[in-house]
Amino acid sequence: MQHSDILIVGAGPTGMALAVALAQAGRPSRIVDARTANAAQGDKRILALSHGSQQILDRLGVWRDIEATPIRTIHVSQQGGFGRTLLHAADYGVPALGYVVAASSLVAALARRLDALGATVDHECEVTNLAAGAADVLVSHSKADAAPLCARLVALAEGTVSAEDDRAVTARDYRQHAVICTARPAAPHGGIAYERFTPHGPLALLPFGPDYAVVFTVPADASDALLGLDESAFLAELQRSIGSRVRLISASTRARYPLLLRYRREPVGRRTVWLGNAAQTLHPVAGQGFNLALRDVWGLTETLASAGPDDDPGAVTLLERYARARRLDRIGAIGFTDTLIRVFSNEQGLWRAARGGGLTFLDLLPPLKHFVAKRMMFGARAWP
Ligand SMILES: Cc1cc2nc3c(=O)[nH]c(=O)nc-3n(C[C@H](O)[C@H](O)[C@H](O)COP(=O)(O)OP(=O)(O)OC[C@H]3O[C@@H](n4cnc5c(N)ncnc54)[C@H](O)[C@@H]3O)c2cc1C
Repeated sequence: MQHSDILIVGAGPTGMALAVALAQAGRPSRIVDARTANAAQGDKRILALSHGSQQILDRLGVWRDIEATPIRTIHVSQQGGFGRTLLHAADYGVPALGYVVAASSLVAALARRLDALGATVDHECEVTNLAAGAADVLVSHSKADAAPLCARLVALAEGTVSAEDDRAVTARDYRQHAVICTARPAAPHGGIAYERFTPHGPLALLPFGPDYAVVFTVPADASDALLGLDESAFLAELQRSIGSRVRLISASTRARYPLLLRYRREPVGRRTVWLGNAAQTLHPVAGQGFNLALRDVWGLTETLASAGPDDDPGAVTLLERYARARRLDRIGAIGFTDTLIRVFSNEQGLWRAARGGGLTFLDLLPPLKHFVAKRMMFGARAWP
């Protein structure tokens, strides 16, 4: 049996951030992942990180090692309707409203930091079963010739909420796919991000190096056709949806992700905690998923660090304290994301007009606009 105090399952961005945070806080952990060491480099996702996430990654000692493109302005609009809202970093006294980074470079930077802290990921080790007892959790895995693992606390960051788990809620299958790629603009983007609500779903253009990272949401049954288009036909489709405010001249190869909202009612169980996409898988609109995950990571680390180094990290009181502290932020992010999709997916004329009015109203009403901007930058800290 291989014993550790804390075992992290999953070395994606969430699990890696937790491993670094715990090591820095003097609570070392063991981290395992089912995939090979190079697999994360194939992650095509590009993430918009909030100002608050940048601060957390800075405290984890990785920010300076990540190539990030600042978002100076966010432009929100809807296709086929009036109204738009503009958010400027300068209005909030911050250098950027957020930053855009490749998930692959984020994981690589976290791996280098973990290495510097004297820890490594145990790759090609798929966890196949957990048996939680009174004092620890027995963890079975796929690695041949290696003994089972055992830990006082297991942190699950395995990237999905299992549909079979009766403690999970599939609140909504959006029947949408996100088609992602990068696209080159004809003129420099100037750090402006566009969030545009179209009749098919939201479209995001995020400044990423000299390009835009594109998240093009379409009905699930239309994504095959979109993926099958040649570059110029795809560009024409993209251009039609974004309108004339940006001219795009080339696009990279595309990848696709099915979208749904699924979350666990409680992010903790017996000697177990779920974080990131394993606790809640959200629609990528407004880029909340990993930002929320990082706040989970920070919250759990603070909770564990508040206990003595010899205290049991899997103690019920600690896990309940963590779950209580995270409740408002989780519910807020789940509700905010889902409400945006539902409000902006209704194509009846009255709704479209109301949305246009709403976007204009938001632009004219500073306190409400500041609330939305702070929600994007800091999550639950947007609340007074
Ligand atoms: C199109 C798209 C755009 C997005 N844009 C944004 C954005 O702009 N901003 C934002 O904040 N979020 C965004 N997100 C969400 C973000 O990508 C996720 O929240 C984040 O990547 C989740 O990371 P994770 O580490 O929790 O999961 P993952 O990245 O899925 O990692 C899970 C890891 O667990 C391992 N694993 C799985 N099962 C096992 C097992 N049994 N044993 C061992 N290892 C296992 C896997 O191999 C993997 O390495 C977006 C998502 C999508 C789909």
